[in-house]
Amino acid sequence: MPKKITGIGASSGISVAEIYLFEKEKIDVKNTKISDVKKEIKLVKDAIVKTSKNISILKEKSIKKIGADKAAIFEAHNQILNDPEMENQINEKINNEKINGLKAINDIFNNAKAIFESMDDEYFKERAADVEDVKYHLMCTFLGKQLPNLLSINKEVIIVANDLTPSETALLDKKYIKGFATNIGGRTSHAAIMARTLEIPAVLGLKNITSLVKNAKKIAIDGSKGIVEISPNESSWNKLIQHQIEMNKKFDECKSKKAQTIDGHSIHIVANIGKSKDIDNIKKYGAEGVGLFRSEFLYMDNSNWPTEEEQYEHYKYVLSKNPNNLVVVRTLDIGGDKNLDYFNFPKEENPFLGYRAIRLCLDKKDIFKTQLRALARASIHGKLAIMFPMIATVDEFIEAKKITLKCFEEVKKAGHKVSDNIQIGMMIEIPGAAVLADQFAKHVDFFSIGTNDLIQYSLAVDRMSENVSYLYQPLNPSILRLIELTILGAKKYGKWVGMCGEVAGDWQNVPLLLGLGYKGLDELSMSASSIPKVKYVINKIKKEDCIELANNAVLCENQNQVAKLLEKFFAKNKINIE
Ligand code: PEP
Ligand code: MG
Repeated sequence: MPKKITGIGASSGISVAEIYLFEKEKIDVKNTKISDVKKEIKLVKDAIVKTSKNISILKEKSIKKIGADKAAIFEAHNQILNDPEMENQINEKINNEKINGLKAINDIFNNAKAIFESMDDEYFKERAADVEDVKYHLMCTFLGKQLPNLLSINKEVIIVANDLTPSETALLDKKYIKGFATNIGGRTSHAAIMARTLEIPAVLGLKNITSLVKNAKKIAIDGSKGIVEISPNESSWNKLIQHQIEMNKKFDECKSKKAQTIDGHSIHIVANIGKSKDIDNIKKYGAEGVGLFRSEFLYMDNSNWPTEEEQYEHYKYVLSKNPNNLVVVRTLDIGGDKNLDYFNFPKEENPFLGYRAIRLCLDKKDIFKTQLRALARASIHGKLAIMFPMIATVDEFIEAKKITLKCFEEVKKAGHKVSDNIQIGMMIEIPGAAVLADQFAKHVDFFSIGTNDLIQYSLAVDRMSENVSYLYQPLNPSILRLIELTILGAKKYGKWVGMCGEVAGDWQNVPLLLGLGYKGLDELSMSASSIPKVKYVINKIKKEDCIELANNAVLCENQNQVAKLLEKFFAKNKINIE
């Protein structure tokens, strides 16, 4: 009997395949005492050396399968494993408490894991999974056990597991792994991010899927809807798969097409990037430039404030790889959930409403100016636009712009060339700024709407909280009205408006984004892989219909009513993507 279960759709795509139940042996850690401390410490040392070698072998294998970038996880694992502090602590524990090596490894790694878990920063929180992963590997080696080997899979399967660790996901071979379904995890868990990167369908958070599949042979998975079906009705799933194959072909064709509606209205479709190297990958998805370069990653990946020279190299790289299209670099957006190892943020009750982004830059002008000088020097290598994050008041924008222009002059005086065409704009992430957009518009060259924060601040909903996630409503009419106000304000002074929050990359929002404020947005910036679907929708609709839809949507009472309008719109336009 087929059995359908719903979990969290973490990576889109549909497939049906045999079940590969991936269950890891639980390691029983006993508190037994030892008498030969030296021998125990040597056993731990040998296990560390052997595990480190294994990790290096896995790294080599995964470089071949998934590329050096993704395989970097193994480098990080070897750093954790070979941290002398960890080894010292294990040895001390064996020495002082005369406990066996396995228990000492377990306790010290658990302590390290707890420290990472307690950190506010999402990046460090995620490192807890890596510590757990390395611990399991080391304990298996210590006990002489073989690690379960996902690399040995050589037929098409869907993996069903409690969870997949970072190193396990790095070993998944797309040729054979047609999807995975896990008991735990959510959209932002490591397994989810990896699934999207590898473009493998995944449904997570299915609670007890590992026990439910015990007597079954096959499973079907729909990663967009978050559904799995055990012992599925294959003919109906095969129809869905066929539809998906046809749609994928159409999306691929869109990559090289212009984003233009049936009635001839064009819009710029550009990419969000986090690291300068990301620029190498955006063209293949059809991006016409960069709408958001999150420069904070340059700072977060460093052990100290990046120098002007270091930053210059990164900006130059991105601009010169893309010299004919606009590259919008956002100045340092740090604070809130994004911390730096080398800077002590003041303790605040509400860091998201506190000392962050442009507020920090206007306070620490040296840091701000270092970035601006690097940008000014890089500007001659392409078409640069600079935007400031989290602008709340017109005065803030005017001050930030004044400092920027002064930096340009200083850089010129120092003998460098600076482009005369650098655009200076701001993000609209704070509702107050959206409401006052017509005043801001007098001073800016452009706006880019950051919906991730705009929704958070408008509906007073922490964008990371699972408890109130039901309030995180991108299509709430209040959000649509703020977008509309921003567009109307900008157009009054002939300025362009883009959007770089997640709302821009969801194909279902496209008709609204093209119609709001009559003119709609001029640019949509998103993860490069979302571009083909968004272009597909644009190519199939009429601007005038979008305007009518948006005019009705802003008059709705709630998100559900807006979603219904969209559903009707897609049905009428015969757009059936998923
Ligand atoms: C946003 O807030 O929408 C945005 C693009 O910025 P970030 O997600 O980096 O805060
Ligand atoms: Mg933001």
